Amino acid sequence: MIRTREAGTLRSADLGKQVVLAGWVARRRDHGGVAFLDLRDASGVAQVVVRDSDAAADLRSEFCVKVVGEVAARPAGNENPELSTGDIEVVATEVEVLSVADALPFPIDEHLTVGEEARLRHRYLDLRRDEPARLLRLRSQTMKIIRDVMDDQGFLDIETPNLTRSTPEGARDFLVPVRLQPGSWYALPQSPQLFKQLLMVSGFERYYQIARCFRDEDFRKDRQPEFTQLDIEMSFVEQDDVIAIGEAVVSAVWKSIHGHDIPLPLPRMTYAEAMTRFGSDKPDVRFGCELVELTQYFADTPFRVFQPQGGNWYVGAVVMPGGASQPRKELDGWQEWAKARGAKGLAYVLVGEDGELGGPVAKNLSDGERAGLAQASGAAPGDAVFFAAGQRPEAQALLGAARLEIGERKGLIDTSRWAFLWVVDAPMFEADGSGGWTAVHHPFTAPHESWLDNFHDQPETALAYAYDLVLNGNEIGGGSIRIHQVDVQRRVFEVIGLTPEDADAKFGFLLEAFKYGPPPHGGIAFGLDRLVALLGNAESIREVIAFPKTASGGDPLTGAPTPITAAQRREAGIDAKPEPASSS
Ligand code: ASP
Repeated sequence: MIRTREAGTLRSADLGKQVVLAGWVARRRDHGGVAFLDLRDASGVAQVVVRDSDAAADLRSEFCVKVVGEVAARPAGNENPELSTGDIEVVATEVEVLSVADALPFPIDEHLTVGEEARLRHRYLDLRRDEPARLLRLRSQTMKIIRDVMDDQGFLDIETPNLTRSTPEGARDFLVPVRLQPGSWYALPQSPQLFKQLLMVSGFERYYQIARCFRDEDFRKDRQPEFTQLDIEMSFVEQDDVIAIGEAVVSAVWKSIHGHDIPLPLPRMTYAEAMTRFGSDKPDVRFGCELVELTQYFADTPFRVFQPQGGNWYVGAVVMPGGASQPRKELDGWQEWAKARGAKGLAYVLVGEDGELGGPVAKNLSDGERAGLAQASGAAPGDAVFFAAGQRPEAQALLGAARLEIGERKGLIDTSRWAFLWVVDAPMFEADGSGGWTAVHHPFTAPHESWLDNFHDQPETALAYAYDLVLNGNEIGGGSIRIHQVDVQRRVFEVIGLTPEDADAKFGFLLEAFKYGPPPHGGIAFGLDRLVALLGNAESIREVIAFPKTASGGDPLTGAPTPITAAQRREAGIDAKPEPASSS
């Protein structure tokens, strides 16, 4: 070893010891011919005193150095109680520069805000900083805790391929050309879903993997094209068994990292209740402002916008406490906010301190509607009431989003809480917008027992054994009990418009495996990036990934993605025409 001690471990008990340290010059101060260095290594920081001005002459920020010296007490009054090494300093007898550093693109040890592009471009320097490094350490710790829990519970860690064919999570695949079979392509897995089910057919019974998943989706603020899941599958289980494992994982993680006891079992809420009360399938239950349904209240309204228009019609409201005093500009801002979400606008009524209703909608209502509205919506004098009218799911979702916005703007969210809950009984299918159905979870999700025989007759109401774990309004995990009967699987494919031929072409290998005694099974996957981001109070999942892509999908460090050369293109066989299907 180049050094004998790690800088951050030195204490008063080491006084008088000769040590050899190695690390980076985090900071340098000069006082009357003496240089004081903060020497940083992975363990922390120690102060080094260099009295020989020649030795200190060329030391600059982020030089990598080796220091030989003696541990001494800091002069009285110079201790730094904020630092675990704050009682001591190392008086250098020898300083060797191991490597030099150019002028830095941004300061490492300052609490300065640095633009994300610059940070990611020099991510290796960014990771020398305390907070980014803390989050990666937290991630590592979390993975260790998870692995211990899984191991204790008898789960086997099994890897599954990254070069494979399409998996069924409903996103677009990333494709990889195959040089040796021009015209054929691998898909990167959107999740290990089908492989973990095959492992159940194999009889392993308890599988887990910390797996990388790849989904080619449109860029969104906090999404990464590749991300990490804790992926779990179990045989001979029911929903409660999988939920119990999920609870064991999060309770161990929160206990070890935060010393926080999550009260178990976690509360459960049905999907329908979550949508009705919170307008979201991942409700943030840390504050109130629940949705109020007013469909009946406005059944005979003269106001055209609220008049029933068929289908699954819904009118509802959410109250913004104290919202009546918002300036006109802010109320207009809400309209823009709603339009950005694809809504026409956000109708509102202001409840004056005298109880009188104001705002453009109020005069369109009947006298009776105006008189009872504050009470029906639960608004008090001084509040604003926002409305949505339309098809139930969309209108509820708009109010749900408005509710979150209200919670944030008004500071109603108790950020000291960890509000976990399971959302259960999700629907099996949702309308795909062109008259057909898609699977809400994925098409291997089992119908609820009570829907086993007739889900295909009423796809709009059929429920699944699907469950999501929600924390503070974020979905951190989701899974389901799977279908293990070929005929049920075939009926699901039928509902989502997959012909038996399509189903065979896409998932034939799974259906084939299901001919050989598949056990009843189910599982769950946790989004590890999100989980660690929440644990560490990080602003984005990018903060807990060593080398993330930017919000627009690029990597400023390597410059990926890049164009390829004509030669690469030829060699990879990208333009090759697939062979006509052989008739054998
Ligand atoms: N494969 C699913 C997903 O990635 C999780 C599961 O059903 O276990 O969302």
